[in-house]
Amino acid sequence: MRLAWHDAAVLAAQGFPDYEETLMARAREGEAVLGCVRLSRCALIGVIEDPQQSLRMTFVEGRFPVVRRRTAGGSLSLDPDSLVLVLAVPAACIPAAPAVDCLRAFCAPLVDLIGAWGVAGQFTAPNDITERGRKIASAFVLQTPDVVLFEAVLPLVLDIEGLLKTMRLPLEKLSEQGLLAARQRFAPLKSLLPDLDAGALPAAMAAAIAHFLGASPAAERPPEPKTRERLAPATSTPAPDVSAFLKTPAGVLYLDVWLEGEALIRAARFAGGIVCAKPAALSDLAAALIGADIRKAGPTLADAVVQAAGDLADFDPVDLAYLGDLCATRFHIGARLGVQAARALTIFSPDRRLTMEGLLAGIGAVLLPYCAKPLWCKWRHRDGCPECGRCEIGEAYALARARGLTVVTITAYEHLRAVLADLRQAKVKAFAGVCCTDFFIKRDYAFIEAGIAAILIDIAGDTCYTLRAEEAAYAGRFDAEARLDARLLASVLRWSDAVRPGGATRDLPDRAVTRARKRPKV
Ligand code: SF4
Ligand code: SF4
Repeated sequence: MRLAWHDAAVLAAQGFPDYEETLMARAREGEAVLGCVRLSRCALIGVIEDPQQSLRMTFVEGRFPVVRRRTAGGSLSLDPDSLVLVLAVPAACIPAAPAVDCLRAFCAPLVDLIGAWGVAGQFTAPNDITERGRKIASAFVLQTPDVVLFEAVLPLVLDIEGLLKTMRLPLEKLSEQGLLAARQRFAPLKSLLPDLDAGALPAAMAAAIAHFLGASPAAERPPEPKTRERLAPATSTPAPDVSAFLKTPAGVLYLDVWLEGEALIRAARFAGGIVCAKPAALSDLAAALIGADIRKAGPTLADAVVQAAGDLADFDPVDLAYLGDLCATRFHIGARLGVQAARALTIFSPDRRLTMEGLLAGIGAVLLPYCAKPLWCKWRHRDGCPECGRCEIGEAYALARARGLTVVTITAYEHLRAVLADLRQAKVKAFAGVCCTDFFIKRDYAFIEAGIAAILIDIAGDTCYTLRAEEAAYAGRFDAEARLDARLLASVLRWSDAVRPGGATRDLPDRAVTRARKRPKV
């Protein structure tokens, strides 16, 4: 077999989907084609990513385009200092396998090549090449019935500040120290190989990949792009009526649902920067929800997953069905507490069969974040609150104390772990917690480790993630104020009262809130 390869130099980023299609068209005709290209400044997002979820659009808009590629996986902040490899191969040449296995095989020749240059890189699941834990490259794969498309992005030099400003996922603060810490997570090739001849890279990559394919490399001129199929534009659809997310080994997967009538699903989609080889199978799975009652989303997905199992090898089918259950739970919360409440509440349960009412009935503690205490309050970095009436944390304390619940201000990440360990030892079944969703996504293992069910209330206002100061926050040094919704906490605890054996007649929350508000200023 022949591997036709070319060096396309710098391409206008908006033309990248056409470029991918041009290479795939040749692979459909039986050729293996490798393109080495650099893109103009852009945010390159995965095929099922919602840019609002992955990018800091307030920074991106008006500066550079958001371009949707054909492979799934996370968003990238790119400029011409990154080399992008695009390999299109007839599907018959590559054995079908889950995405991680395909990517491990595809990355092997690249790892060998940089190994020959003295860099001890390795493949790190699900889709990176790393060196001593630092990222050298990211890789992605798309399997269609007739073509397999591999892509790898290798920064030669990395604009870390541009990357941090572009991505919405948890970021380091942009201080000198924060930038240094972020830089230590990446190893652009030029930092490892200062004498690297970037101009010779495409030929070296082509030779390594041709060897992997058992093909002979043949250099050629870059092709003229021609378009057969348009991808969905890289803009967001209207906000879903109900949405839930789950952290999976492939990444954070969202299920977004739009409703008609009381509870019928009009449209649905899976979204996220997840690593999967057949994103179209997720679209088909979401289509199975159309016309279903959202309260049955879990069982509907469970049935559909069985039929599509072969194309969903990158996921645990139980996870996919559970996302339907989580959407149904959010809908249930919305019916009881309103749409805004449903958006602000996240459920975590080690036992996925636990019902919402079962979780609420088990609440034995309330955990609050120090970041919602006023900056001037002497209790900000201490556990406890005398309920002076000057902030909603006092109201939250009153609500919890009125019920005899344990109430703790979490002052740092290690403090959270210690408190969760104490709750576990005390056999507390569940807690109501207040924290930003970003924290829960990034630090979910603290909750998994504790094994205690939780209902988590998102906080409003500036979080340390939006301000890029999470490292300071984990150490208890976040210096902005987040906002806690004590009314929502009151609603949750009142619901808990209603379902707790012997607790239905209690009406403590509103009294507690009123009392806290009337306290004199101190
Ligand atoms: S209620 Fe008063 S003492 Fe308690 S955290 Fe708020 S400001 Fe501080
Ligand atoms: S991560 Fe930051 S913003 Fe989020 S709850 Fe913790 S301190 Fe507050």
